[in-house]
Amino acid sequence: MKKIGIFGGTFNPIHKGHIHLAQQYLKVLDLDELLIIPAKYPPHKQAHDLASSEDRLNMCKLAFRDMPKVTVSDLELKRPGKSFTIDTLEELQKQYPDARFYLMIGGDMFRSFEEWHRFRDVLCSATICTAAREEGEYPQLEKARQHLSQYSENLMILKISVLEISSTKIREKLFCGEDCSALLPEEVEHYIMERNLYRRDLEHEKKVEQYTQLIRGLLKPERFQHSLNVAQRAMYLADLYGEDRKKAEIAGLLHDLCKNMQPQEQLHWMKKSGIIFDKTIFSQPQLWHGFAAAEYLREELSIDDVQIQNAVRYHTVGRANMSTLEKIIYLADLTSQERTYPSVEEVRKTVDRSLDDGMKVSLLFTVGNLLKNEKPICMDTCAAYNQYVGGAEG
Ligand code: ATP
Repeated sequence: MKKIGIFGGTFNPIHKGHIHLAQQYLKVLDLDELLIIPAKYPPHKQAHDLASSEDRLNMCKLAFRDMPKVTVSDLELKRPGKSFTIDTLEELQKQYPDARFYLMIGGDMFRSFEEWHRFRDVLCSATICTAAREEGEYPQLEKARQHLSQYSENLMILKISVLEISSTKIREKLFCGEDCSALLPEEVEHYIMERNLYRRDLEHEKKVEQYTQLIRGLLKPERFQHSLNVAQRAMYLADLYGEDRKKAEIAGLLHDLCKNMQPQEQLHWMKKSGIIFDKTIFSQPQLWHGFAAAEYLREELSIDDVQIQNAVRYHTVGRANMSTLEKIIYLADLTSQERTYPSVEEVRKTVDRSLDDGMKVSLLFTVGNLLKNEKPICMDTCAAYNQYVGGAEG
């Protein structure tokens, strides 16, 4: 029977600790193959400075390119939503029906194993192998093993020398421009330097500060707080769906910029766009602020990024064929932290699972309310409804 090791992680970035572990596992367990599986989005962690899926995959490939038994797999990166190990195991069982699986996890993960999604099923699907991450951790691992043995005997603690390295520490150092050559494989270090990954972006931080002050002055306190929350939620969704989190932050902060302006002023900005609006929009002043803000961004703030402009422009009405950033801002607005309508938790979960499903439930809700209140529905919203709810081609 083929023995396949599975080593999953965020690998943000992959470091010498991971490689050491992989080498040792291959040897000690005498594996035929070892799959390195970067997670799309880590279920156990907050993903603040998560490098893109593509970059993390590339770094893993560089790190393991001289190890013939190792395959770097994009299985989890291709799957939408959070990466749960049980989904990966079930997929691999189909691909390799006759293999025996060994799941490798660090000591920290082993000790919190019961928090994993469907951990009992994970225990039934693979032998769980662990090793210490810190000196002196073995007694705690043994205690965790004894506790977990009530569910399964397929648990192994391997005595492997400890390399106390973590991706978090590396990111902190890189953020400050410190040298990490002792902690990273050389090719990975070069890759990070070439692309300027994990470095502090002072220019972006300055812009965020400037825009925060601007909206603090333009918006009522509750609206200001809402904008901060939408920016946070938009960054979270950007990480989840591989979108640019800086653009998401800016669009989230500024989406309601014109909300508290007088209607005439909103109309003034809105008309500057040159867009020919359908009549239903003119009859509903609550829809103007998105269109107005997009022009304000372009003209007053010199934000030329069309993606950001469109995400702000369509955040109230939606439209057909929305970009990922447009959907993110539309949905972050409806599911930001302070929202308390009865189904908000359900909607949040749907959005976290799939943006298109999120659009569907949100449009059903919005259009349903408009119908109930006998309000007109503008053409862009109809087109979005037909696409995301009715399944019509965009
Ligand atoms: P972070 O610091 O961002 O939490 P990390 O260094 O733990 O990252 P992950 O990608 O989360 O890296 O790790 C993947 C797996 O490798 C996890 O099971 C983790 O426990 C384990 N691991 C990471 N670094 C080490 C190490 N130095 N020694 C042993 N195991 C490790």
